[in-house]
Amino acid sequence: MNRPAATDWAARAAAATFDGRCLVEGERRAAINGATFDKHSPVDGRLLGPVARGQAADVDAAVRSARAAFDDGRWARQPPAARKKVLQRFAEAILAAGEELALLETLDMGKPVGHALAVDVPATARAIGWYAEAIDKVYDEIAPTGPNALALITREPMGVVGSIVPWNYPMIMAAWKLGPALATGNSVVLKPSEKSPYTALRLAELALQAGLPAGVFNVVPGYGHEAGEALALHMDVDAIGFTGSTRVGRKMLEYAGRSNLKRVFNELGGKSAFVVFPDFADLPRAAKTLAGSIFFNQGESCNAPSRVLVHETIAEEFVRIVAAEAPAWQPGDPLAAGTAMGALVDQGQLDTVLGYIQAGQDEGARLAAGGQRVRADSGGFYVQPTVFDGVANTMKIAREEIFGPVVSVIRFRDEAEAIALANQSSYGLQASVWSDNLNRAHRVARALRAGTVHVNQYDEDDITVPFGGYKQSGNGRDKSLHALDKYTELKTTWLRIDS
Ligand code: NAD
Repeated sequence: MNRPAATDWAARAAAATFDGRCLVEGERRAAINGATFDKHSPVDGRLLGPVARGQAADVDAAVRSARAAFDDGRWARQPPAARKKVLQRFAEAILAAGEELALLETLDMGKPVGHALAVDVPATARAIGWYAEAIDKVYDEIAPTGPNALALITREPMGVVGSIVPWNYPMIMAAWKLGPALATGNSVVLKPSEKSPYTALRLAELALQAGLPAGVFNVVPGYGHEAGEALALHMDVDAIGFTGSTRVGRKMLEYAGRSNLKRVFNELGGKSAFVVFPDFADLPRAAKTLAGSIFFNQGESCNAPSRVLVHETIAEEFVRIVAAEAPAWQPGDPLAAGTAMGALVDQGQLDTVLGYIQAGQDEGARLAAGGQRVRADSGGFYVQPTVFDGVANTMKIAREEIFGPVVSVIRFRDEAEAIALANQSSYGLQASVWSDNLNRAHRVARALRAGTVHVNQYDEDDITVPFGGYKQSGNGRDKSLHALDKYTELKTTWLRIDS
């Protein structure tokens, strides 16, 4: 049997074209004042093209389009089974355009194209398809009243939802908002990151082709302090689904307070603890899983296990195995087959990551692997997988989210200290416990203050379970049926029945 020829990604990249115009009311248009910004690729620094620099007027046009679509019921009042069919076609269209979307994602934000194709594309399609499948299977409630009443508890779409998303998983983060928001009948205005605008715009085109009515899903690219702020302050936006930094999540709450008290659902940063006990027998599996989780996506994952707590008796061996894994994660050309780690998103992120590596050394942590910028002559932004040993939980590299391929190893003496250290963080997105002792695994999992606790694994995940944080990692939950709560209002209808 003939095997299909391997994709020549470099040739595809050279031939690719980029349309950075807004998508409003079902059509591509320049920003109203014609403003653009240049988008460069972190892969090699090449100019991808001008992108519409959306401003308040563009956001207002998109919100008006979304509101009109919502009010006339062209989407919101379609039966759930009809919405399901359109969203299923949208999910299929994402898979069919998989190679094109994967290439755009890689050129935009630097991840290996193999990962974009194997992870980002199917996860995006699955999120849309899963909510499509779910939406004609969720029921409302009837309250247990007396014989003279019928009390209905129903869910209604919010109206116009603003989604503001980051650049690390641009399509997946958008799909985690779009799936539940669209399935429940809302109209959406999506503001992608200025660092990764292209796949969001293509997703909106694919949705239109799948039969989503014009105006239901609009995309306004632009900067956070312009398009993002205008969307979050807009008086006719009913809810904001935000994924991004804790710093900007704080602003989302302020914007809501200064405008119409719109609902704000924040999915924010993390500093997730990875806690390894000496009673976990397969230390190499734990260490390899750590390397795979912290170095995947260049370490630019909100749930990356960047704080490793290891019992002092096994710490040396653990660090040795993690450091030995680092060569397998050396950055390479994101367009080449087999590359495990790609480019950081831009010069700013490179400077931030190198700054943290310097801070770790200045505070006395020991560099066990990596620490250098590499491939500088490519014109892109690449950093070695980096392991720090001898870290104290009070150091800057242990407290702050680095968002790069840098892991800090901290030693502990006993279970109580491990739990205390793990919870001594302003974040609470995820955590993991490694122990073969069933009682300990349950005990520690209960004690950890995080939205997800993994036991003897990390990153095994699915759209079926909620994703979100405790503390300053946010308040909303993406994924699972619980996400439907964010995009619906609960209504009580109390009917009196005369006897
Ligand atoms: P960011 O907060 O800088 O930007 C996120 C989005 O907000 C972008 O679209 C940006 O343009 C916009 N924005 C920025 N300033 C704004 C403002 N003043 N008003 C309105 N919008 C504004 O975050 P980032 O650098 O794009 O992404 C990295 C962060 O995202 C990390 O902290 C990471 O942990 C977090 N993240 C969290 C999750 C999660 O599910 N909890 C998932 C992925 C990423």
